[in-house]
Amino acid sequence: MPRTVKTACSKYEQFSSSTTFTRGSEVLVSELIHRTAAELRDLLDRGEISAADVAEAHLERVEAVESHVNAFITVTGDIARKQARAADQRIKDGSAGPMTGIPVGLKDILCTIDAPTTAGSRILEGYVSPYDSSVVARLREQDALFIGKTNTDEFAMGSSTEHSAYKFTSNPWKLDHVPGGSSGGSAACVAANEVSISLGSDTGGSIRQPAGFCGVVGLKPTYGRVSRFGLMAFASSLDQIGPFSRTVEDSALMLGAISGKDPNDSTSVDTPVPDYRSALNGDLTGLRIGVADEYQIEGMDPRVEQSVKTAIAELERMGAEIVPISLPHTEHALATYYIIAPAEASANLARFDGVKYGLSLTQDNLLDTYLETRGKGFGAEVKRRVMLGTYALSSGYYDAYYVQAQKVRTLIKRDFDQAFENVDVIAAPTSPTVSFQKGARTDDPMQMYLSDVFTIPANMAGIPGVAIPCGYVDDLPVSMQFMGRAFDEATILRVAHAYEQNTDWHKARPPLDEAIAASAGN
Ligand code: GLN
Repeated sequence: MPRTVKTACSKYEQFSSSTTFTRGSEVLVSELIHRTAAELRDLLDRGEISAADVAEAHLERVEAVESHVNAFITVTGDIARKQARAADQRIKDGSAGPMTGIPVGLKDILCTIDAPTTAGSRILEGYVSPYDSSVVARLREQDALFIGKTNTDEFAMGSSTEHSAYKFTSNPWKLDHVPGGSSGGSAACVAANEVSISLGSDTGGSIRQPAGFCGVVGLKPTYGRVSRFGLMAFASSLDQIGPFSRTVEDSALMLGAISGKDPNDSTSVDTPVPDYRSALNGDLTGLRIGVADEYQIEGMDPRVEQSVKTAIAELERMGAEIVPISLPHTEHALATYYIIAPAEASANLARFDGVKYGLSLTQDNLLDTYLETRGKGFGAEVKRRVMLGTYALSSGYYDAYYVQAQKVRTLIKRDFDQAFENVDVIAAPTSPTVSFQKGARTDDPMQMYLSDVFTIPANMAGIPGVAIPCGYVDDLPVSMQFMGRAFDEATILRVAHAYEQNTDWHKARPPLDEAIAASAGN
């Protein structure tokens, strides 16, 4: 007999009337997994459900699907239940924040004081940080519910989550396909309704690309908008933390909760944090949307290209003006990224030496300890990046590679500065293809790297980008992204929300339960 809670709210009955989720005026606890964070917030604040119900519903869902999806490296049910008790108290006291009682997933590269943070690497197996990352501390302070730490490519290096040392995450739309990466677990757990929101990190596309592959919303904020303190660093001049959610509104809510200056991160910027949710007014009249030729490349799936074109035509119909623009240095972005990101990674990963953190394979002398620990602790992709980066930074090559790449980076940024003199946002595909089959690109790093051609330029320029679903190809989600001026997340969220409200893509759910039932029948 499913458990129920009373609700007097007709809005939710209406939403559920065509489903088997409700009986009369009661909301089934198991149905709570289908609510957005904004809907849960309302239900919690009205006292119609408890945070304990929210935690149980999501933990039951995790129990039911996780052996198929594998989105989490660690599930933190006990922490979530404890937070739920505190959240219920807080709601009673009238001191709830936007994220109080909301179930979240945290990429396992965000330090948490009470659960291991592995960065998807053997070198940090079982490692527990002595402090919370700043984003985690903010959510903890509000008593959000931490459902678990999500799977990631090792140190966020990858585009399919197949470079995790722990497990393969499946795409909830097709279980033999990748969820994208590196934040594949964070994308998959939102798509599979295991949480309503999650956090990931985006250095070259690792929020937007997996969001696109899993048919959810993914937002990379402006560099400096969100504190990186306690995010294990991959490429410090590119990394940003941001949300995944099933609606644009939920990403807006989460962005508001995690943004702002942090004394612990000197690159976080002290500009006011607007109320992002109130920017979602549905109005596109007079808005200028730039479309660049450089985002149509060889090797792109023509059906993805067509879906994005159709979406842009829809935006025009909704009142936006479509403006052709040119971003001529885009073609160099990928090559530039693969100098700068590995160079920074090779420096950042030097700290994993078998002495200070995590795995320590002690040998007779210090050099052998380094070699043994790093040789066994790091996977192949991380070693490839460390070698590329060390080479690019080595004496004699530094000017030819690293300095040159920084100059090209400036040119890429200037392209965007110029474009934004004429347009308010830029629309582009998120990725050249939809999700691919597991194993299809693991032996070909170049093919894997090409997944990020359209996402990397925004990281190079430091500007924000949001990915949203805009179609289907082979029953897999297609995604488009909106890039905006630095610190103008409000405008890209407004466009994304207006498009979402005019289309039904975000309402489709992956056929996960059917796939699980079918596999049980076999
Ligand atoms: N896929 C890209 C890479 O492997 C981007 C990763 C990221 O954004 N963290 O470097």
